Amino acid sequence: MSINELKLAKELIRKPSITPKDAGAINLLAKNLKSLGFKCQKINYKNIKNLYAKLGKSSPNFCFAGHTDVVPPGNINDWSVNPFKPNVKNKKLIGRGANDMKSSIACFVAAVSRFKKKKKFKGSISLLITGDEEGIAINGTKRVVKYLKKRREKINFCLIGEPTNPNKLGEMIKIGRRGSITGRLSVIGTQGHVAYPLRANNPSSAMIKILKKIKEIKLDRGTKNFQPSNLEITKINIDNHADNVIPGSAEAVFNIRFNNKHSSTSLKKKLNAVFNSITKKSKCKFNIKYEVSGEAFLTKPNKTTYMIQNIIKKITRIKPKLSTTGGTSDARFIRKIAPCLEFGLIGKTMHKIDESVSLSDLKKLTNIYHNILENYFK
Ligand SMILES: [Zn+2]
Repeated sequence: MSINELKLAKELIRKPSITPKDAGAINLLAKNLKSLGFKCQKINYKNIKNLYAKLGKSSPNFCFAGHTDVVPPGNINDWSVNPFKPNVKNKKLIGRGANDMKSSIACFVAAVSRFKKKKKFKGSISLLITGDEEGIAINGTKRVVKYLKKRREKINFCLIGEPTNPNKLGEMIKIGRRGSITGRLSVIGTQGHVAYPLRANNPSSAMIKILKKIKEIKLDRGTKNFQPSNLEITKINIDNHADNVIPGSAEAVFNIRFNNKHSSTSLKKKLNAVFNSITKKSKCKFNIKYEVSGEAFLTKPNKTTYMIQNIIKKITRIKPKLSTTGGTSDARFIRKIAPCLEFGLIGKTMHKIDESVSLSDLKKLTNIYHNILENYFK
C-alpha cells in the first residue's frame, strides 16, 4: 500500500485536535500505520492520547517523533480557509497544523510506505507521537519516554519532525535546545501611608534594584553551538489601588533561556544570592517560585547527523546549519533515551493565521525522509 503525503496531511488537519483534544487524529494515524504493517500501541495518560508504533523487531530502531495536537486557530474569520478544512491555494496547503506539524508526520509516513515497498530491511522503524506537545506536555512524550525506558525499548536514533527551518527548506537542523526557567518573585515590605515613609517599607525599591541587577548579570558569551544565555523580565506588578498607600508587596516574573554552561540549579543559586543580599539590605523578605521547562542539551553530531545533513543538502541544495536556537521541544525528553536531531518544514507561519506549507516542500520533505531511511538501513 502506498500513502500520499498531501492526502494524509489533509486528513490529519481535518481532525480539530486543538491541544489537549485529540479529535480522532491519533486513531487516523494508527489506521494508516497499521495498513503498512506497524504494531500500534496506544499509551494514554489521563485525557491525553499517545502512540508508539513499530515496524519490525530487530535493531537498529530508527524513530520519528512528533505531535498531532495543534494550537488554537485564533479568530476563524481571519483565515482565508477554514483552518480545519484544509485547502490548496497558490500551490500551498493551508490549515492549522500544516507545518507544525501534521504535514511532516504525513511526509514521514509516506516516506516509510515508499521505502517499504522497494525493499526488505534489517532493523525497525518506529513512531512516537503525542497529543500533548503544545499544551503543558506532562502526559505526552515525557511519560511515554519513561514508559519506553522501563520496558527497555531501545531507540538508536530519533528524528523529530518539528518545523526547524526559518525561511527555506534545508536551512536548519536542530541538534540541541536551550534550557528554560521561569521565576516568579515576590518582595514583601511593610504597607503604610505615603506621607509617613518611615513607618513603612516600600518593597518596590528593593524590587527595582533586584531586577536591574539580574538583568545586568553577564551569564556567558555563548559557545560554539549556543547563543549567549539571556534573561528577560516578563512582568512587573504592584497590585495597589490607592495613590496614598505604600504597597506591602511587589511581584515580578522573568524567564531565562540558557545554554549548556548553566543548569537550572546553578542559575537558581546565582539568583537566590542576589535576592537574599538585596532584600536583606532593604529589610524586606522575598518569595521565589521557579518553573523549569527543560535543561539545555546538545546531541553531539555523529555519523547519522552528518548523513542527514548531506541528504538535505543533496535534495534542497542548501547545507543546513546545525543549530540550537529557538524554543523548547519534546527533544528535551527523548534525548534521555536516544540521540536526537530535529528537521521538518518551515516555521515561518506556525501558530499563525493561514498556517501553510508549499506543495513542493511537502514533496521534498518526503524525499528527504525517504533518503534518510534508505541510507540509515543501508
Ligand atoms: Zn510543534
